[in-house]
Amino acid sequence: MAAECVKVVVRCRPMNERERDLTCHAVITMDSSRGQCFIRKPEAPEETPKQFTFDGAYYTEHCTEQIYNEIAYPLVEGVTEGYNGTIFAYGQTGSGKSFSMQGVLHPPTQRGIIPRAFEHIFESIQVHRQNTKFLVRASYLEIYNEEIRDLLGEDTKKKLELKEHPEKGVYVKGLSLHMVHRVSECEKIMETGWKNRSVGYTLMNKDSSRSHSIFTINIEIYENGEDHLRAGKLNLVDLAGSERQSKTGATGERLKEATKINLSLSALGNVISALVDGKSKHIPYRDSKLTPASTYVQILGSEVAAVSPHPQEDPAHSVNPQQVLARYVYV
Ligand code: ADP
Repeated sequence: MAAECVKVVVRCRPMNERERDLTCHAVITMDSSRGQCFIRKPEAPEETPKQFTFDGAYYTEHCTEQIYNEIAYPLVEGVTEGYNGTIFAYGQTGSGKSFSMQGVLHPPTQRGIIPRAFEHIFESIQVHRQNTKFLVRASYLEIYNEEIRDLLGEDTKKKLELKEHPEKGVYVKGLSLHMVHRVSECEKIMETGWKNRSVGYTLMNKDSSRSHSIFTINIEIYENGEDHLRAGKLNLVDLAGSERQSKTGATGERLKEATKINLSLSALGNVISALVDGKSKHIPYRDSKLTPASTYVQILGSEVAAVSPHPQEDPAHSVNPQQVLARYVYV
């Protein structure tokens, strides 16, 4: 099971107009049936290309629908059953992170992973609502320059602190939780939070966001006749671009941000490596704010979950099963 805890897939977008105008050549080829990606040096085409293997390799003709069905579907299904899961896109600005996560409306096969996950969750609730009660709540935080802010809070400028609870583990103190009953409510609060993000401008992409953000859907599930409840959590993480500072033309404040971004992304890489290798006793979650807040990578609730406290849950919000019937809401 440990091998399935963290899945990494790679997606290569088609060339854009600018790249075509410049008659750029693709340096990447893929063998999707084997999850393999080959990169050759344009200056040394006779050299054997470097080869990398992933859990999935998606080339320019592949659509988000296929990626969702093959990769995200089982993870989100697990969340509706009470497991925790995290999905994020990593890559440099312009590589297609938003295209994959938020997506586009047309063609429908390219709708994003996030709207698909929302629909999946509420469809699953509809199917099981006869015998089961669900409470669905969302939170949305931003990590900017290693400072955490609540994108849905009354004061979105206020810095929040990461705290540790002896039983519950790490959580963000004071992070607001918002009850959601349908897909449209999820979309609406995501949009509200998105507008509250700190957006900066770099040479690579003027709209690129210089912060990381984490949208979390918490689902509590109470099956009739059972004396306990299950709680699942889906973290949808939007990472800042992974570009090297030198390429962004950043100076001053922007350079400071970029340094923090690079630091937290390498901390994220270290946490994932430690989780995947399975031998490390110490998982270096504390090296940045991003890692405790997002990557207790509890994908599919397997062994990794055992080393993972619940990151964003404020104990004030935790549920006492005794009171569950009084608090429960039919979705
Ligand atoms: P990022 O979020 O990583 O900065 P974007 O998602 O904004 O990058 O993608 C950059 C551009 O490339 C956008 O215009 C987007 O529509 C386009 N794009 C990205 N991925 C694909 C894809 N798989 N198919 C077609 N266009 C894509």
